[in-house]
Amino acid sequence: MKVSVAQLLRDEGSSANYDLLEEFPPLQFDGDDLTFESPVHVTLRVSNTGKELLANGRVQTRVRAHCSRCLEEMGYPLDLEYEDEWVSAVKATDDQLENALLFEKDQIELNERILEQIVLALPMKFICKPECKGLCSHCGTNLNQAKCSCGEENIDPRLAELAKWHPVE
Ligand SMILES: [Zn+2]
Ligand SMILES: [Zn+2]
Repeated sequence: MKVSVAQLLRDEGSSANYDLLEEFPPLQFDGDDLTFESPVHVTLRVSNTGKELLANGRVQTRVRAHCSRCLEEMGYPLDLEYEDEWVSAVKATDDQLENALLFEKDQIELNERILEQIVLALPMKFICKPECKGLCSHCGTNLNQAKCSCGEENIDPRLAELAKWHPVE
């Protein structure tokens, strides 16, 4: 996902709009293989402020993950704000070389930053729906789809362990 900024660099104060679409490869996240259900769509406005290129816009896509409770596949939409300041590597000051995002050859290579934003926006745990009942901790039945005969689906597994030792009348 590259943005060519040669024109923009010639004209301080100018801006340009970009509409980018790219397929991203699957990524490892929390032990799961996340795939992208749709190409990553980036709409971007880049402005030449004289000191740097200010890029802001939006990142939209949809990833496919597994619910952490019931393990079923689920889609997860992402719609994020994006904003960064990019500095030409050849014109950067020492401070910018250390701290700023750099681009070379009049091209901003966005993939890495976009992927970072996507990863930061992912939930700690994927859950297919708030009321997902998950799997029975004894027999593994998906409790969204069927009832099992263990009869303990509402008991906290830690309490269930206790109940074995102190049977409740
Ligand atoms: Zn689920
Ligand atoms: Zn069960």
